[in-house]
Order: sequence, then structure tokens, then C-alpha cells
Amino acid sequence: MFVFLARVVVFIIVISVIRSVVAYIQRLWHTAIYSKPDIHRPMPKRPQGDGGASSATVLQQDPVCGMYVAVDTSLKKIVSGKVYHFCSADCRQRFTL
Ligand SMILES: [Zn+2]
Repeated sequence: MFVFLARVVVFIIVISVIRSVVAYIQRLWHTAIYSKPDIHRPMPKRPQGDGGASSATVLQQDPVCGMYVAVDTSLKKIVSGKVYHFCSADCRQRFTL
């Protein structure tokens, strides 16, 4: 009788160990699946000084009139990958490289 009880206890312990091992493997598998595609994660890259930020305090010089404008309120024009900021639509239209 005690041998039977001991076997039941051992069985329960073995089952719980197996379940924890399976859960551990599943967690490893899950992290292996969902941590792989770093490609789709946007890179928080912020170049300093070189005027690519979206902060309200960043000023860029209007290349036409020389006035400094806030980048989030300025009119923008992208020429060959570089963003130019303008104080007005007039400056933007007059801008030529
Ligand atoms: Zn201007």
C-alpha cells in the first residue's frame, strides 16, 4: 500500500517536472519565433545635429531666405534624399538646386 502511494507521489512529481520542462521549451520556442524578425521593428535612430529629428525645438535654415524655421511647422521638400525646410510656400517654390 505504501509502495503504491509512493509510486503515485513519484508519478505526480514526474508529471509536474515534465510539465515545467515542456512549458520551458514552449517559452524558448516562443521567444525563438517572436524575437527573430528584427527587420520589422522600426529602428529608433536619431542623428544628432544633422537635422533629421522631429523635435519641436529643432530649427533648420531656409536655404532661400536664410530664416530659421521649426522643422515640425516648416514646409518641406525632399531633393535627392535630403530634406529642405522652408518658411513659406513662396520660398519653397523659388528653391532650386
Ligand atoms: Zn523663406
